[in-house]
Amino acid sequence: MTRYVFVCGGVVSGVGKGVATASIARILKGYGFRVTAVKIDPYINVDAGTMNPTEHGEVFVTEDGKECDQDIGNYERFLGENIPQDNYMTTGLVYQTVIDRERNLGYGGKQVEVVPHIPLEVIARLERASKKAKADFTIVEVGGTVGEYQNILFLEAGRMMHLKEPKNVVFILVSYLPIPSMIGEMKTKPTQHAVRSMNAAGIQPDIIIARSAVPLDEPRKRKLMLNCNIFSERDVISAPDVKSIYEVPVNFEKDKLGERIFEKFELRPRKRNLRGWYNFARKIRRLRKTVKIAIVGKYFGTGDFTLSDSYISVIEAVKHAGWGLNRAPEISWLDAEKYEKNRRALKELSEYHGIIVPGGFGARGVEGKLRAIEFCRKNKVPFLGLCYGLQLAAVEFARNVCGMKGAHTTEVNEKTKYPVVHTMPEQLANIRERRIGGTMRLGAYGCELKAGTLARKAYGKQFVMERHRHRYEINNEYIQRFLKKDFVVSGVNPERNLVEIMELKGHPFFLGVQFHPEFKSRPMNPHPLFTEFIRAAGNSKIRSN
Ligand code: GLN
Repeated sequence: MTRYVFVCGGVVSGVGKGVATASIARILKGYGFRVTAVKIDPYINVDAGTMNPTEHGEVFVTEDGKECDQDIGNYERFLGENIPQDNYMTTGLVYQTVIDRERNLGYGGKQVEVVPHIPLEVIARLERASKKAKADFTIVEVGGTVGEYQNILFLEAGRMMHLKEPKNVVFILVSYLPIPSMIGEMKTKPTQHAVRSMNAAGIQPDIIIARSAVPLDEPRKRKLMLNCNIFSERDVISAPDVKSIYEVPVNFEKDKLGERIFEKFELRPRKRNLRGWYNFARKIRRLRKTVKIAIVGKYFGTGDFTLSDSYISVIEAVKHAGWGLNRAPEISWLDAEKYEKNRRALKELSEYHGIIVPGGFGARGVEGKLRAIEFCRKNKVPFLGLCYGLQLAAVEFARNVCGMKGAHTTEVNEKTKYPVVHTMPEQLANIRERRIGGTMRLGAYGCELKAGTLARKAYGKQFVMERHRHRYEINNEYIQRFLKKDFVVSGVNPERNLVEIMELKGHPFFLGVQFHPEFKSRPMNPHPLFTEFIRAAGNSKIRSN
């Protein structure tokens, strides 16, 4: 039997509901239960694949090839487990299923209604995900904030589940308590309104997680208890800002969140084992030795926050690898486009121990990234290319080392004389017929590693599975010319003979991958390629300018 914890947001978005959900999952797992987590996104997009990262943040890819919300990445990192695609749904996906079923006479001639048929489909999906995970607990994160029009049907699903089995469903509100500077006092009223909105949807939160800049004091807890209909002050969990998201479970447990949840379910914990996590959080807090890494990207959009959201798995993977080597990574974001306007700006790259060119799409910023890659190659700055980063490293190498003037990826220049990066025939058809959503090469594919290479040494084994999300591939016709100049293929997908990893001989670390290793990095189990990259970066000298 699965028990459900619904996590809803109140007052404002972006206060860490995803991390709160992941942390609740981690805490309950620490008490000896099988836990999984589900993300519900209220938008119409069937999945996150077609959205620009500046709109929505990173598109995370699951092992089974679903393009989904970045919170699934948080769940994987906190739980240390792969989350399957069943654990992600959007309004669009739910409606699509219901409409398809109706077209196939799946409702047997009945009138199909928004209520109850949409919430019933949501419930069916939650139950399926829980069954697949054999979950004792399923934590359900409802995207958006309560009171908005978009997520009401998901709350309705929660209400219906609670009505049917009240002892099986607990509601948690993650709210925010502002401290307006002119008042200087923490205010509870917005949270009270958020609870009223939940009440209007027929739901009473059992627990409030109160996010704020600082911890909550007793009067505030009491006020929330009395005015929000909360059973006990102990059900108001203080959640002040923290430096690292990995401190959040530790903080929740200071207010005994796990115990509170068990009490609601009338359950006892099986064991208590969060020590590994506590030690890890303490260790990373104390690291002093740094390593400076820059990410050369383009998804700046509306400022640094958007950017860090666009590359969240890359950033986390860098941190995990750094921590594993007892270093605190300092990560900077550099806009590739400025190198197009001004070559001299490239000099700043030598202020970093290592450079990452992450995934990306389209023409904007490409020439700037190419210049950054050239700089790393020539100046022996450790370089890690992820997906587009590998493809552009191949373009740069073709142009500047192999003498193929104007070489390019056909994504940017269809008519290039040297299409060193191109599409497979089936992808060509997808593009031509505009079958775009969910049609890239997605999810886990095998990669065979070549003996004697950096990649093989890093992984310490011959065969690995890595997650993909791309439409273009390195063109095998040019491989011989690369090899002659010491740009070697160190990983290949054996089924389709596709290049997966390339690396440059005679460079401290210059390696590109067609896949996204960042998706498989875990806080206490960093990805080996990131670890080798950070190790090389740690050994590199920063030139002062
Ligand atoms: N735009 C490239 C492709 O589609 C790379 C994608 C990526 O970096 N994820 O192949």
